[in-house]
Amino acid sequence: MKKIKVAIIGAGPSGFSVAEVLRNKNYEDSFEVTIYEGNDRVGGKCCTVFADGEICNGQTGGYDVGAAILTPGDGELRTILSKANVTLSPFTETARPRSAFVSKGKPVTVHPIFLKQFLKHPLSITRALGEVSAYAKDYVRYSRSRHAGYTNRPSALNVTLSTKYPKRVNRRLAYLMQGFGYADLDDNGLTPPLLYYHQYYDAGFLNAQMVKVAEGTQGIWAKLAETYPTDSIRLNEPVESVSRDSDKVMVKTPQGLEEYDYIVVGTPIKSALAYLDLTQEQRIFLRQVKHNHYATVLCETAGLNANTTFNLDACEDKKQVGRVMCAYKRYPDSDIASLYLFLPDESNASDTDIVGMAAKSLKEDFSVNMTNEASAKVFHWTDYFGHLDTESLNNGWYDQFEKMFQGKNRTLFVSSGLHMETVGASIQFGTREAKKYAKLWLQQQTKQ
Ligand SMILES: Cc1cc2nc3c(=O)[nH]c(=O)nc-3n(C[C@H](O)[C@H](O)[C@H](O)COP(=O)(O)OP(=O)(O)OC[C@H]3O[C@@H](n4cnc5c(N)ncnc54)[C@H](O)[C@@H]3O)c2cc1C
Repeated sequence: MKKIKVAIIGAGPSGFSVAEVLRNKNYEDSFEVTIYEGNDRVGGKCCTVFADGEICNGQTGGYDVGAAILTPGDGELRTILSKANVTLSPFTETARPRSAFVSKGKPVTVHPIFLKQFLKHPLSITRALGEVSAYAKDYVRYSRSRHAGYTNRPSALNVTLSTKYPKRVNRRLAYLMQGFGYADLDDNGLTPPLLYYHQYYDAGFLNAQMVKVAEGTQGIWAKLAETYPTDSIRLNEPVESVSRDSDKVMVKTPQGLEEYDYIVVGTPIKSALAYLDLTQEQRIFLRQVKHNHYATVLCETAGLNANTTFNLDACEDKKQVGRVMCAYKRYPDSDIASLYLFLPDESNASDTDIVGMAAKSLKEDFSVNMTNEASAKVFHWTDYFGHLDTESLNNGWYDQFEKMFQGKNRTLFVSSGLHMETVGASIQFGTREAKKYAKLWLQQQTKQ
């Protein structure tokens, strides 16, 4: 039987998770997979570089400037990590604190366990517990259902948590969420983005042990890519346009035009808008997915000790663009740290300006110096954290997406924006959708 030809756009975790399903031994005789990647490397927002900015591509000793913390549990991510044969270790060492917190340039204490704080403040407990338990009830029911669909999201997930929850709860959610860039800067301001743990959020991610990868998170994809046939991963080949009709899909890149049976959108929705053949109505609908412009500054610092140091003022406030939300110091014996900050969406700030902003924030908010501004490197993530605002969520965007787009026009979408933006969630979603659609595509071929 003729193999079904599938083009996957994007060699990040989402794209690879689909490729891994279509390549497994159940399907290897049925599908022929080509991955198109616009960049000169695999991994997408999993990006690991040496201090001079060179990509590590599977070598150890680098710094993660994109994804850094993984919580594999025993799910789909664990399977991928073992296929890639990378070396895992606990995210933190016992010799130094896992997290530290600063506010107005001074260290502050934050108990990650809410209850400890609540016990000290009985009035807050009484007010907060009712609201928290109502939310938790729905949240637990929802995450237990573990369905990779978009429907039946409980209404409690629609509430604007930042206005509903007491500040004490917000503070802790804020550093865990907004501190890692998960916020809608225009919508709720301080957005504990549990609001955006749309679709489902596997509570297993929260409970599982946090690990880091010796080869860096980019190393996972670099090592996995080595197991693919030559020419099946096309680096430096950005997809420029896709045209779909009832029996085929044409994919155009600077290198030429190729025909496929199906395509998989493994790029953020924002990129997909540039290459997909969409109607005006579809375009308007997909544009509701918002992304944050996030940046990482890799630089030398003096005075950071903890693995991760959070700037609580920035994490708790609205529109704290240009201030360092969190600093990650991967190795205890190296002064190099990754600093994470939001930039305005339309920002055209130069890298020198961004380094200047980060150095100022480090000094004012952390009382820490950037020791060598000239050697600092900036990494831009203009399509980070695909999410919807409250209005789109309340209007049932996910249900409409399922009806209008998923699996339609020979296209499977696995991009961020359809699920929480983490490596684990990307892989879980991509794997589950790929298993479902591989079966359907085979049935369709048998009927033809
Ligand atoms: C600073 C930062 C920190 C993070 N920290 C963590 C963390 O600690 N833990 C965690 O789990 N997650 C973290 N994440 C999130 C994680 O990196 C993402 O969820 C994950 O990479 C999403 O995978 P993806 O494949 O959907 O998208 P991406 O990783 O964005 O990959 C998409 C790929 O598509 C390619 N592409 C785009 N347009 C085209 C085109 N037209 N043609 C061909 N190719 C194209 C891109 O070049 C890219 O390689 C972090 C992200 C950032 C930016």
